[in-house]
Amino acid sequence: MLSHLTFSDAVRHQANGIPSFALDSPPMDVFLASPRGFCAGVDLAVDIVDLAIQQYGTPVYVKHQIVHNPKVVADVEAKGAITVEDVEEVPEGSVVVFSAHGSPPSDYMKAKQRSLTVLDATCPLVTRVHNEAKKYAKEGKKIVLVGHAGHQEVIGTTGQADMQVINELDDWDLPHWDEETEVAVLTQTTLSVDDTALAVSKIKASHPNAVVRNDICYATTNRQAAATELADLTDLVLVIGAQNSSNCNRLKDVAIKKGVPAFLINGPEELDSEWLKGVERIGITSGASTPEKQVKAVIEALKPENVFRVGPGEETTTFAIPRSLRSLVDDSSRRSKDEMIPDEDY
Ligand code: SF4
Repeated sequence: MLSHLTFSDAVRHQANGIPSFALDSPPMDVFLASPRGFCAGVDLAVDIVDLAIQQYGTPVYVKHQIVHNPKVVADVEAKGAITVEDVEEVPEGSVVVFSAHGSPPSDYMKAKQRSLTVLDATCPLVTRVHNEAKKYAKEGKKIVLVGHAGHQEVIGTTGQADMQVINELDDWDLPHWDEETEVAVLTQTTLSVDDTALAVSKIKASHPNAVVRNDICYATTNRQAAATELADLTDLVLVIGAQNSSNCNRLKDVAIKKGVPAFLINGPEELDSEWLKGVERIGITSGASTPEKQVKAVIEALKPENVFRVGPGEETTTFAIPRSLRSLVDDSSRRSKDEMIPDEDY
């Protein structure tokens, strides 16, 4: 879906220190993906850190980056959160938030041994994958996880049960299981929809009765659908977000596979005027952990003639906060944190 948006005064205004490319380039239009940016799981995780600070005071420890975005991490740290990579770095008796990506059972054990108060910010859609892993292991199935070894989410999921990890972007083969072997296939939530479908069809070729769960989440699916539309309409796609965000990298891959140059940048300071030479139609999207203000800053720097919205449209999904913190929040006010700018305001 494509619709024209009014370019607001707020976006026309050039913030101090942000480079402008308007004078060096031909007039350009921006095609802005919808949906983009924060998903319900990221909203929930950031809210949990805020509420933990409100409830318990500072410092509150966060195991792993709360979400994969340095600006979000810096924001929560400015409020009094301390990010650590290992539960053993958290002083005994402290409060710790486990990040949105999910954690292995060994982390909960360590927290118990250190008498920590754990607030679990694992996205419910990741928890669902953990539960599937435990269920299939109990049923005696061999589990295949399509995902990227070393990613925080995969560390959490592989901790739930014995499983074989395959990276859909590499050449891979399953172990030599006989045809009678019962196989269950799980996936990381933030993979490429198309590449994962190919990997699943390869597994199905050798194990036709394999149980396949579609664990790629709604936010990943919708952002990739919008990025596909962007790539069809534009000469260049900019994905706004962090280099370590799986979600952002897959959005970049979607555009490149459609034959459109694409770059993943944190903000306008990383724009390269070479990319913009002769470009009249720029697609902009952002991953599920990218705050809207980073997108807005890039649009301000580009100073487009027009902004068009492209994609399936905004999402309404929200996840409930943990019961232990529920008394502190009015659910209706939660999404204001990201200062999400309604598309109509561009
Ligand atoms: S990207 Fe998907 S799985 Fe990850 S936090 Fe967002 S909704 Fe949850």
